[in-house]
Amino acid sequence: LRESLEELRAEAARLYQSASTDQLTGAMSYSHAMKMFDRQIKKAEESRKPLCVMMTDLDLFKRVNDTYGHLVGDIVLKHTAERIKSAVRDFDIVGRFGGEEFVVLLTNTDLGLSKVIAERIRRDIAASPFHAKKFNIDVTISIGVAMLKPGETREALLERADAAMYEAKRTGRNRVVVAEDIGPG
Ligand code: GH3
Ligand code: MG
Ligand code: MG
Repeated sequence: LRESLEELRAEAARLYQSASTDQLTGAMSYSHAMKMFDRQIKKAEESRKPLCVMMTDLDLFKRVNDTYGHLVGDIVLKHTAERIKSAVRDFDIVGRFGGEEFVVLLTNTDLGLSKVIAERIRRDIAASPFHAKKFNIDVTISIGVAMLKPGETREALLERADAAMYEAKRTGRNRVVVAEDIGPG
């Protein structure tokens, strides 16, 4: 009985792990990241500690798929998640938000430090090409950063980070833009 209980427990842990992880990239799955996000918003409000979020989107990624094929694109996505993870701290949360978009949650972190971390991600990705199959592929990323306002919802915060990311696209890509720097929204 004890053995089968342990097997059940291990199976439950495996299931939890696979449900909370994005299979392609190894980042946190969207639904799990959003769950963590809500939890962190609550914590930030209770402790009055700053909480920041980053929305990232690869630049001109369609071109990578068109030039090298979708499978190579997939490998680039996997490498992107790895580079983002190695540029942030162990406790930061990296989730796959959509196709080639990742969300990063920075707990207990103010805008100044978030901007430094975002800039590190941007720089690390632009610094050297990704190896996929026999290709070396230059990739850049645009990043929007926003800090939780008192009483703000998760959706509103993500929208501001997303708007900042689009501002980074509009102003040339391969850039970090802070929502608080582009005025109200
Ligand atoms: P922009 O700089 O404006 O972001 O240009 P973009 O080409 O990256 O445009 P957009 O972000 O709208 O396009 C995202 C592309 O990412 C579209 C789709 O072909 C590709 N994509 C989304 N999910 C996946 C995936 O899982 N694998 C691969 N290989 N490609 C994906
Ligand atoms: Mg996109
Ligand atoms: Mg893109």
